[in-house]
Amino acid sequence: MTDYQKVIDRIYHTVGPMWPQAKPADYIPALAQADPSSYGIAINTLGGDTFSVGDSHVPFSIQSISKVFTFAMVARHLGDRIWESVGREPSGNPFNSLVQLEYEHGRPRNPFINAGALVVTDRLIDLYPRPKEAILDFVRSLSGNPDIYFDTAIARSERATANRNMALAYLMKSFGNIHNDVETLIDVYCSQCAISMSCVDLARSFLFLANRGVNPLAPGGPERILTPSQAKRLGAVMLTCGFYDESGDFAFRVGLPGKSGVGGGIAAYMPGNLAIAVWCPGLNSYGNSLLGIETLERFTTDIGNSIF
Ligand code: GLU
Repeated sequence: MTDYQKVIDRIYHTVGPMWPQAKPADYIPALAQADPSSYGIAINTLGGDTFSVGDSHVPFSIQSISKVFTFAMVARHLGDRIWESVGREPSGNPFNSLVQLEYEHGRPRNPFINAGALVVTDRLIDLYPRPKEAILDFVRSLSGNPDIYFDTAIARSERATANRNMALAYLMKSFGNIHNDVETLIDVYCSQCAISMSCVDLARSFLFLANRGVNPLAPGGPERILTPSQAKRLGAVMLTCGFYDESGDFAFRVGLPGKSGVGGGIAAYMPGNLAIAVWCPGLNSYGNSLLGIETLERFTTDIGNSIF
C-alpha cells in the first residue's frame, strides 16, 4: 500500500524550499496580494482517507477550477446537448483570446477557455433561477464544507477589469450563443471564479470524478452527479484542455486529468483511486502554478502510477 502521507511530506519538504518563487497573477488586482510562499497539498482517496501537508486548509481563489463545477452542473441537465454550443478541442490560443471566436462563429473550442466557460455559465443561468446560490450549494455539498464562500473583494476586482470577458460575451451574443444579459452573466462568472476553497475542499470535491460520476461522501449516502459517460467525457476534456496552452505538457509530465486556475490551484484525479489538490500562487508563463505542476509530476513519478 502506498503511504501517501509520506510521499506528499517528502515532496513538500524537499521541493518546496528549493523551488524558485514565481509571481502570482496580477491582471486581476486582488489576486496579486496572494503570498507567493503559500504551499499546500491534499489528497482524498475513494477509500475515505485524507492526507494533507502545508497550507492545505487555507482557502484561496479557485478561479478557473470553478469551470469544472459549473460544467458538471449544466451537463447533468443538458447531457450531450451542451456540445452543440461548445466544442471539445484544445484551442491553441490563450485562455482569454477573442480571435478564434470570430472565425468559428461564436462557438468556443472547449468549456475551459473563458469563452466556453461563459457559454456554460450562461446555460447555468437558464437552468437555475438563483445561479450563484446554486453554485455555492453544489460546491458545499461536494466538499462537505458548508462554509465555502465567494470572496467578494476578488469578485469585485475581477468585475472592474472584466473588459475582455465582456467582449467575449458580447461577441458570442451577436452569434446567438449567449442567451442572458451580459452584465448578469459576467456577475455570475466573476463570482464563480472568486469561490474560496482549500486544497482539502478541492480534493474532496473532485472525488466524484475519480468515482465515475458518483460523490461517495454525500451527506445522505453516495450521490450520482454525472453518468459514467459524462464523467469520462469531462475527464477527457480536462486532460486535453485543462491547463491552458500547457495541457499537452501537463499530460506528458503528470499523466492525470485536472484543472488549474490563475489563483495558483490545481485539482486532479486518478480514476478509481483518488483526487489531489495543490496550491502555490506563483505562476509560470502559461498561467499554471509553477510549484503545483512540479509537485504533481513528482507525485505520479514517486507512486509510479498515473492514467497511463
Ligand atoms: N477569472 C479568470 C478570468 O476569467 C479565470 C482565469 C483562470 O483561472 O484561468 O480571467
